[in-house]
Amino acid sequence: EPVEVTIGTGVEATGPLQVLGVPGQVNLDYAATAPCARAAADAVAELLPWYGSVHRGAGALSRRSTLAYERARQDVGDFLGVRPDDSVVFTRNTTDALNLLARALPPGTRVVTFAAEHHANLLPWPTGAVRLPVPDSAGAAVRAVDAALRELRRGSGGEAPILVAVTGASNVTGECWPIADLARIAHRHDARIALDAAQLAPHAELDVTALAVDYVAVSGHKLYAPFGIGVLAGRADWLDAAPPYLAGGGATLGVGPATHDVRWVDGPGRHEAGTPNLLGAVALAAVCNALAEADRAALYADEQALLARLRSGLAGLPDVVELRTFAVDAPRVGIVSFVVAGRDSAEVAADLAQHWQIGLRDGLFCAHPLARRLLTEAADRSGRRDLPPTALRASIGLGSTAAHVDRLLAALASLATPR
Ligand code: PMP
Repeated sequence: EPVEVTIGTGVEATGPLQVLGVPGQVNLDYAATAPCARAAADAVAELLPWYGSVHRGAGALSRRSTLAYERARQDVGDFLGVRPDDSVVFTRNTTDALNLLARALPPGTRVVTFAAEHHANLLPWPTGAVRLPVPDSAGAAVRAVDAALRELRRGSGGEAPILVAVTGASNVTGECWPIADLARIAHRHDARIALDAAQLAPHAELDVTALAVDYVAVSGHKLYAPFGIGVLAGRADWLDAAPPYLAGGGATLGVGPATHDVRWVDGPGRHEAGTPNLLGAVALAAVCNALAEADRAALYADEQALLARLRSGLAGLPDVVELRTFAVDAPRVGIVSFVVAGRDSAEVAADLAQHWQIGLRDGLFCAHPLARRLLTEAADRSGRRDLPPTALRASIGLGSTAAHVDRLLAALASLATPR
């Protein structure tokens, strides 16, 4: 039986930022995939009757579609605060964007990242990438990157291009990383920095130019738009010099009879061969525009209040232990991972779904090195020997309410083993 969920105060965006949802279902899994915003749904509905092939075809539908696609590129770039000469490449998602960047690195590029990253920002990088241990504070992260870059510049890496690849906000803990400081350190060592903003962009304002970040990657489906659209934006030189990420129609200026006789376009089209995802691009741009027009500071403050309610509620449950890397009061977005001592996380998640209509994620969240390390740290910190080997994650965003949070807390209170 679906249970009525009362809507209380929370991140109650209305208008274009109202999210579509199923009454009675409590979605606390925004970090995996956020619900669709009205702006995205409206943009898709408007486009469906008249779309045609993008970049190919002289017909009116095709021409309008090409204009809409390129307008979407412009809008998404503006939302991310890109520099005028940056490239904005549409991809399928963040994973695709970071794999594209990995393939576009100049030969010999050294990559520095943290063991705290999502697999999408751990696995695409070339062999020999430096994987720094999970730091225990933002300051330690900056010092570790500084030391690693110093070492690389002293050693065989001497003059080689270097890329520092870090997350903006952790998909496990929600903790925000010191991006502006990391960018400053990277540039001091003549290295570039790529930001995995899959989790940061949906929650906080992000300005690539102000942060001095060289590349940024985001996913549409975490930004209140549908699946299948993402973005890699940043410095055009490496992207224009690289072999095309996808080889095929749309990426070429001309193809001759010999197999090697191909001239590739410069600019984003070089990496976007094949008919592009117009609906996805337009939906994502619509959300970006709606967010750009909204009072994001107010939305952020609402989300922070809800997150504080969630975390203090969890802290009040004797068997619940939160996972965290940094200090308890470090800045974070609306994500919190935890375990219920003595309870298997998959069983808890199934109970929450079946009896409470609450959807959240259990597991190691595609960040195995980080999640395992934090589970060990949580056992040490709490002194509990009965923590399960995987965790639970609750994540919130637009449309989340105090009622949703309270329902999770009530459910956990009833599920937790009595002491
Ligand atoms: N990076 C982070 C920090 C993420 O949270 C995710 C998604 N969980 C990704 C990258 C990958 O995103 P996608 O699955 O949309 O490619």
